[in-house]
Amino acid sequence: MDLRSDFPFWLLDKGIIHSYPSLQQHIRTDIVVMGAGISGALAAWHLAHAGFKTVVVDKRHVGMGSTAASTALLQYEIDTPLTELINLRGERDAVRSYLLSLKAITDLEDICSQWPEVSFTKRPSLQYASYKKDVTALKKEFQLRKQAGIALQWLDKSTIKDWFGFEKEAALLSRDAAEVKAYSLTHALLHNCKQLDLEVYDHTAITRLEENKRGVELTTDEGKKIKARKLVIACGYESARYIPQKIQTLHSTYAIISEPANIEQYWHQNALIWETDRPYLYLRTTEDNRILIGGKDDHFASPRLRDKALHAKARSLEHAFHKLFPHIHFRTDFKWAGSFAATKDGLPYIGCLPGKPHTYFALGLGGNGITFSMIAAQIITRLALGIPDDDARLFGFNRP
Ligand SMILES: Cc1cc2nc3c(=O)[nH]c(=O)nc-3n(C[C@H](O)[C@H](O)[C@H](O)COP(=O)(O)OP(=O)(O)OC[C@H]3O[C@@H](n4cnc5c(N)ncnc54)[C@H](O)[C@@H]3O)c2cc1C
Repeated sequence: MDLRSDFPFWLLDKGIIHSYPSLQQHIRTDIVVMGAGISGALAAWHLAHAGFKTVVVDKRHVGMGSTAASTALLQYEIDTPLTELINLRGERDAVRSYLLSLKAITDLEDICSQWPEVSFTKRPSLQYASYKKDVTALKKEFQLRKQAGIALQWLDKSTIKDWFGFEKEAALLSRDAAEVKAYSLTHALLHNCKQLDLEVYDHTAITRLEENKRGVELTTDEGKKIKARKLVIACGYESARYIPQKIQTLHSTYAIISEPANIEQYWHQNALIWETDRPYLYLRTTEDNRILIGGKDDHFASPRLRDKALHAKARSLEHAFHKLFPHIHFRTDFKWAGSFAATKDGLPYIGCLPGKPHTYFALGLGGNGITFSMIAAQIITRLALGIPDDDARLFGFNRP
């Protein structure tokens, strides 16, 4: 599957951070993780720290799937508003899903604090009402999130104008969000597990998977065998081929990043910004004072059409930015496109399929893929340790 256009900014910016060999012998391990994107790297990090002998394999190079294209806003705000998620999943499960996403940001901060190169930065997150008609629903959302114990403020028109400089009727300002370099973080996680005996093999495609009573046996494109007690499938949007039911819908999305400027603060605390409209526009700044804008999603998955649309989409994103911030100079430095998968309830799929107790899925689908990957890594590690996990039920394959 062609996951993204050729030149996402992060790859041009950092290039190949660490190289790994391809697998050239048969091996045996406790746990094998398929996929060296942010999901596989977080899972491997947690499993290796829990004491499992862990091996990671990827058919591409590390982080070169969707992770290289990620704009990496870390928000507890799931694409499905809490109001809607309560209707779909009931209040207890919906609130718990939001709170787990919130905790995932803090847990990511703890890990990232040791690596300045991943540029983890705490930011507030602003969600504005795109239209006047959205204000009532946003107010309800505010009340429900407050009741759930989430720290956020209601901003009125004049405060939005003062703090952000644009005119919108109302907005929610959440205290706890962050940004990170997902591609650099993926490399840091894997590289820094070397002392825990983690092995990474890239350029190694798994062409056959078999689960038996004692564990799993994987075969690579070069005929090498990997025997393990457990398998974690963290193949991103390409994982769908291992799942009998349809769990995801593919879309196309677009992003642009400005030239760096000599401005350290563009708007209130350089908050992450998004909106109530769908598909939503979103923005953030970077540690080198660029502005990153994403959105203008299409409901098709064709990589050919996606990449063909990129030029026009970049102009359309610039236009949307100028409408919000006519006073801020924005010149696109790089643009890229990616496919992304959404689920019906906006939640990820984590855990085993019925009858396959040795294979865990870590599928951080949707706009919050990275916080979901963190939740997946934690749940899977507990399950692998034999610790019952009540949260696994929220993201299981047999949920309503
Ligand atoms: C443009 C864009 C913007 C985004 N913005 C955000 C955002 O702001 N915030 C956020 O949280 N999320 C965002 N996302 C989503 C987030 O980037 C993804 O959820 C995340 O990168 C997925 O990581 P992954 O490790 O699951 O998948 P990937 O990074 O795709 O990694 C999966 C790996 O599995 C490997 N693989 C597949 N099949 C095999 C096989 N048979 N054998 C061996 N290896 C295999 C692939 O080569 C790949 O490297 C965005 C996504 C895109 C495209």
